[in-house]
Amino acid sequence: KVVTRFAPSPTGYLHIGGARTALFNWLYAKHTDGTMLLRIEDTDRERSTDAATAAILDGLSWLGLSWDGEPVSQFERAPRHREVAEELVRMGKAYYCYATPAELEAMREAARARGLPPRYDGRWRDRDPSEAPAGAKGAIRIKAPTEGETVVHDRVQGEVRFPNKDLDDFIILRSDGNPTYMHAVVVDDHDMGVTHIIRGDDHLTNAARQTVIYDAMGWDVPSMSHIPLIHGADGAKLSKRHGALGVEAYRAMGYLPEALLNYLARLGWSHGDDEIMSIKDMISWFDIGDVNKGAARFDFAKLEALNGVHMRRMSDADLFDIFLATLPYLEGGPAMAARLDDNNKAQLLAALPGLKERAKTLVELVDGAAFLFATRPLPIDDKAALLLNDDARKVLRGAHEALNALSGDWTATAAEAAVRDYAQAGGHKLGAVAQPLRAALTGKSTSPGVFDVLAVLGREESLARIADQID
Ligand code: GLU
Repeated sequence: KVVTRFAPSPTGYLHIGGARTALFNWLYAKHTDGTMLLRIEDTDRERSTDAATAAILDGLSWLGLSWDGEPVSQFERAPRHREVAEELVRMGKAYYCYATPAELEAMREAARARGLPPRYDGRWRDRDPSEAPAGAKGAIRIKAPTEGETVVHDRVQGEVRFPNKDLDDFIILRSDGNPTYMHAVVVDDHDMGVTHIIRGDDHLTNAARQTVIYDAMGWDVPSMSHIPLIHGADGAKLSKRHGALGVEAYRAMGYLPEALLNYLARLGWSHGDDEIMSIKDMISWFDIGDVNKGAARFDFAKLEALNGVHMRRMSDADLFDIFLATLPYLEGGPAMAARLDDNNKAQLLAALPGLKERAKTLVELVDGAAFLFATRPLPIDDKAALLLNDDARKVLRGAHEALNALSGDWTATAAEAAVRDYAQAGGHKLGAVAQPLRAALTGKSTSPGVFDVLAVLGREESLARIADQID
């Protein structure tokens, strides 16, 4: 049975790279009918905050990346990490080191002078513990192999070999009794029964050191998959400008969780030529072994286009639900949320088919729907103002008369017939009537079909808005 885990450090929001790591863990677990666990790596007390943990849980929940069981706090497991470190000492696989800060600094200095990475020289490796300076608290170091190589069998990177002469006897338990990150991860993954580790390839060299700890304990090394990091569209490391934002920023920009997941899944993984995937598709098609080694490039334009497709694919009822649920988070959303009542909710739902044809994000939906919430006299934007010149106003007057004369039900079809008749009788092109009408009704130069707008707004409000632009 497959057990994956997502193991974020709560030092900031859930950024887009973390979200993709979580997604791959989640997809793989779902695909194999396994479970995904969540571990908060809060061992670094200085940098970890509750607010960051809350933001990560919120981000995962918004994306629908559910974890199994309770989140595990790594910090709370420190006694267990200590226990395993001490067991390794008893087994002769690790030892106490009493090197002083000055000695360690001298080792670093020596390495630097030779242009090598700092390394511990193993001076306490074979010394008898009775030689420990009185009262000194040692750190525990693992006895790393000195010959041969450590091989990481990575499902994405392939077989990665690390010469053991490059590994030093690294610390697993500090002299203050706290575990190092390297050690805590191994003990936790083992105890949590993790079978598959899927994480960013910035952790690949850690995998070699972690393998040393697994081997020392005689534990099975989980299957490893180190996935390439996300880069900006220009190939550079992802920065804020490129989209390295918290997932809540994507929510505020009006992206649908499903679209964002679809986009993230396709960053570094593909399934034939399939671009548009539902969550179900992703689950049934995803395999970690199919993820590419090369860095993936983040492209906002593609995300936006994909989002538009997902919005149009969705049923109006589902889109409406998600729109209402997301409204408070959207740019410009809270003001609209404050003005929502049953009446304009119904109007909104009626206008949705037209609105979603023109919107690529939920924020664009907010903009598109603004006409429903506007109060008279409407603010007219610059482009719309150009459509309301003197000639256009004359045409509008005629259209107003024609619409006003409508008896019977006020529907899009009836309004269309009236406007068409009027245009034909006056020798106007339909657009010459529809454009100023749109400007008068919405204050904008683009909107859903103008006859739908008339229907949604209703007779009284429509005629009043048109009249506002004639006088
Ligand atoms: N806490 C690490 C990070 O946020 C992940 C460690 C792991 O997945 O093993 O980068």
